[in-house]
Amino acid sequence: MSSLVCHQFPYGSDNYGVLVHDADSGQTACIDAGDAKATLAALNDKGWQLSHLLITHHHSDHTAGLMDIKQATGCAVIGPVQRSSAIKGIDQHVDDNHTFEFAGRQVKAIHTPGHTTDMINFYFSDDKLVFTGDTLFSMGCGRLFEGDAAMMLASVAKLNALPGDTLVYCAHEYTATNAKFATAVDPDNKVLAQRATEVGKLREQGEPTVPSLLSLEQQTNPFLRTRDAGILKALGMEGADEVAVFAELRERRNGY
Ligand code: ZN
Ligand code: FE
Repeated sequence: MSSLVCHQFPYGSDNYGVLVHDADSGQTACIDAGDAKATLAALNDKGWQLSHLLITHHHSDHTAGLMDIKQATGCAVIGPVQRSSAIKGIDQHVDDNHTFEFAGRQVKAIHTPGHTTDMINFYFSDDKLVFTGDTLFSMGCGRLFEGDAAMMLASVAKLNALPGDTLVYCAHEYTATNAKFATAVDPDNKVLAQRATEVGKLREQGEPTVPSLLSLEQQTNPFLRTRDAGILKALGMEGADEVAVFAELRERRNGY
């Protein structure tokens, strides 16, 4: 089995789509469908044929191009079971722990509610890739539109339990602001300080900061560090319940 090749492309103001290609089978999956033109252009650039479209959640910046992409490519569309707004055009609905085949390997759906109740993340265990949509961002997490802090904490804990060498692809380039916020609530974290500097350089050059390794997120993402003594101290929340800490972090990030 040869390894999958990922091609990340930007669309909208700060979204990323990703094409995942297997040379042996010729199969290609795309994660999310916010902009059909951008997806079809990326496929054209690479000379790849879309076989699968994987949808993380119902928000329009992840679904607006779904029907056009499906019509243009004849791909199979896999997405979440309906828990909030319906998504038109899904052929196969997946829920937590459901698996499906792509290019001869199993892909696992991980239900990560919080940003929305329907959110599904896609885990390619053989290839150590996870697509986290608007759940886990680089050094951040999604806003709580449909869920609450307890729900989102449980969701990011599922991702946090994956192997540290898993590559995390999130759906937005929010890393520079996340890095500033993370530094404010985790001021003595040296790995974070270094990562924040690297992120600043990348963004100055117009380069993406996504993907990132889960092990790096574990060391720098405050939303995965809700038991860290330094963060608790900075928040003035020593001894506080983990859900309360997560909620406070999310609340502060909203106003940051
Ligand atoms: Zn969203
Ligand atoms: Fe989004």
